[in-house]
Amino acid sequence: MPDCIFCKIVEGSVPSDTVFEDEKAIVFKDIRPKAPVHVLVVPKEHVESITHLEENHSTLIAHMIYVAKRVAKDLNLAGYKLVFNVGREGGQIVDHLHLHLLGGWNGKPDNNAPLHV
Ligand code: AMP
Ligand code: ZN
Repeated sequence: MPDCIFCKIVEGSVPSDTVFEDEKAIVFKDIRPKAPVHVLVVPKEHVESITHLEENHSTLIAHMIYVAKRVAKDLNLAGYKLVFNVGREGGQIVDHLHLHLLGGWNGKPDNNAPLHV
């Protein structure tokens, strides 16, 4: 994990606008938000991407989704999107697993937001 920006956020050497943290994950605001609310659910363990998951990561993935649900509730989101970008072709820029949580469209369905985040 040399020079991984999200590992640095996890260890606290790079600042982040953190909205939730527990022993396995941290959730912070995306610096370039693509929705009125855009946070990233990041496991503390460095795993590169969905492609690099191994079977023993299944509880970690379940935990990320559960944390996303909990944060969405705390942020009063009526509806939201959960997105994994996988690999460069899938739009992944940061090679440390993260789940995008997007929402906050003020009660209107998200008809216009792009699928790509
Ligand atoms: P992805 O394209 O799925 O790899 O998404 C990476 C996301 O991380 C992008 O939406 C970036 O805006 C966001 N990002 C990159 N660096 C930081 C940072 N230091 N703090 C918060 N978000 C970041
Ligand atoms: Zn990392």
